[in-house]
Amino acid sequence: MYKIEILDLHFKAEKHTIACFLISLNNHHVLVETGPESTWFNLKDALKGHGLNPGDIDAVLLTHIHFDHAGAAWKLAEAGADIFVHPVGLTHLASPERLWQSAAKIYGEANMEQLWGEMKGIDKSKLVPTGHKETIHIGDLVFTALHTPGHASHHIAWQLGQSVFTGDVGGVKIKDGPVVPPCPPPDIHLEDWKKSMQTILDRQPEKLYLTHFGEVNQPREHFTELTKVLDNWAFWMKVHFDKGTPLETIKTAFMAYTSNQMESFGAGKKLQSLYEYANPSWMSVSGLMRYWKLKG
Ligand SMILES: [Zn+2]
Repeated sequence: MYKIEILDLHFKAEKHTIACFLISLNNHHVLVETGPESTWFNLKDALKGHGLNPGDIDAVLLTHIHFDHAGAAWKLAEAGADIFVHPVGLTHLASPERLWQSAAKIYGEANMEQLWGEMKGIDKSKLVPTGHKETIHIGDLVFTALHTPGHASHHIAWQLGQSVFTGDVGGVKIKDGPVVPPCPPPDIHLEDWKKSMQTILDRQPEKLYLTHFGEVNQPREHFTELTKVLDNWAFWMKVHFDKGTPLETIKTAFMAYTSNQMESFGAGKKLQSLYEYANPSWMSVSGLMRYWKLKG
């Protein structure tokens, strides 16, 4: 039987911000997510802790191609792994220039390298496009790809037995904090996101594995909470969208709003700072504003 190992990538030298997952069975090794390239050495150390080198990984399953999830995929491809990804994400991993530029728009070019490290294209022969409900077999491990848009249009949640690796469609929940939705531009879509949560629940999982961060034992309750906060944030934003409040003003107000909300959920300043590393709250402003703009 396999065991799911949660590898903490110590993003920004903190625990519990970005994870990837190692699953091994009969000498076959699969990674779900890779984290960014900036934590590559931490990933190598974590693998070493399990007696493995990057060259031992047969396959990498990506939930989506944002840097915090897929930034080190090219390193694993160079080490020999096949990279399984949504067909739409594949093109961007082969030629990551546009991906880099769109992330630079969000984070600022000056911060890119330090946050995410280096990004190189992946040889197309190592990239495997994966369709909705397609199953893939790595030795005796069988994964099912669930196309789950809402956070990103090219998002996949990966099912393995009664567990689902949710990527960001499962939200961000760190330690005993609340679950919140990461809403960066450009693909945020409320209706799709809710359908995707149902797609996952329809598989009747017993456990969810969140990239930010770790194991969740009550999927149904978790998604109910996530839906509430997603709606709450989106409709908070709608008020400002309708008023035409300037973006910078909204960002400041939203950071204060979410900070108070976290306090009300019992999350103190230290825990909040981990949430900000995993999912900066200001980032969700442009994502949700864009959603309302496209809807209009
Ligand atoms: Zn993420």
